[in-house]
Amino acid sequence: MTTPRLTLAIQKKGRLAEGGFDLLGRAGVKLAYGRDDLLRRAENLPLDMMLIRDDDIPGFVASGVCGYGIVGENVLYEAQQKSSRASGLHIVMKLGFARCALKLAAPGDGVIQTVTALTGKTVATSYPGLTAAFLKERGVNANIVEMGGSVEVAPRMGVADAICDLVSTGATLQINGLSEFETVLESEAALIRGSEARCEDTSGIADLLVERFKGVIASRQTKYILLNAPPDRLKDVCAILPGADAPTVAQVVGRDDVVAVHAVCTEAVFWDTLEALKTVGARSILVMPIEKMMT
Ligand code: ATP
Ligand code: ZN
Repeated sequence: MTTPRLTLAIQKKGRLAEGGFDLLGRAGVKLAYGRDDLLRRAENLPLDMMLIRDDDIPGFVASGVCGYGIVGENVLYEAQQKSSRASGLHIVMKLGFARCALKLAAPGDGVIQTVTALTGKTVATSYPGLTAAFLKERGVNANIVEMGGSVEVAPRMGVADAICDLVSTGATLQINGLSEFETVLESEAALIRGSEARCEDTSGIADLLVERFKGVIASRQTKYILLNAPPDRLKDVCAILPGADAPTVAQVVGRDDVVAVHAVCTEAVFWDTLEALKTVGARSILVMPIEKMMT
């Protein structure tokens, strides 16, 4: 009997494709060479990737064409606002990349600075479902104009008074003379699946991928730190190490004034962490990335 293959919908090109293929590569998925524009096979796992536009991913997963998908929460929730078929989709796990936020913004002249000030005004957006739901929840009656892209130029063109658009750094808003005044949704890439019954026969490979993804995400900010410290300053050193549960302390051959400390730090290690370690007597501090993790 052949093992059933899991089909994963993933963006063909763009921010989600970049982060998604990087994640799959780090999780040990080897892509088979292929000329097919739509389907890529993994050569070492029962996994096929369907390469499509991110906006089509919720529909492909909801209809069962693909068992799973990697998509932004913004696209998932917008699809759920628009179609009841998408309501059966679940987030299996968040993936920690393609972070952005759907925000309301208006020209920097300050006429519109609050959600209530949108009453009777026009808001341009590529996310009419989420924008309408947000405004309704706030009891604000505004007109919504749907735009496929270049939403940030709408106020300048006289098409809208405000916009509701995806923002990551805020640079696009600034260039267009807009200032944000409210966050509608915080978003990042997520692994989604359809109904459980549909995914049953591929749950083995799905569980394996989820465990590996967790390992990749955890190892991203986890660092291995090595340092030497005077034995009487060990308590201070350990208090500074970010998110290190149980550092290992070892003797240094030929030295009784220092011990070696090895620790796995699960929180970000910044330059000021190293400077703080130095002030309590730590020396020869090494910070190393961790490639893989399994707990
Ligand atoms: P296509 O529809 O052809 O797949 P796209 O133009 O929607 O491509 P991207 O611009 O790559 O594709 O955006 C994909 C997703 O990346 C967005 O839906 C969102 O989840 C996330 N994202 C992160 N930062 C931003 C940002 N600054 N602007 C737009 N999207 C962002
Ligand atoms: Zn898109």
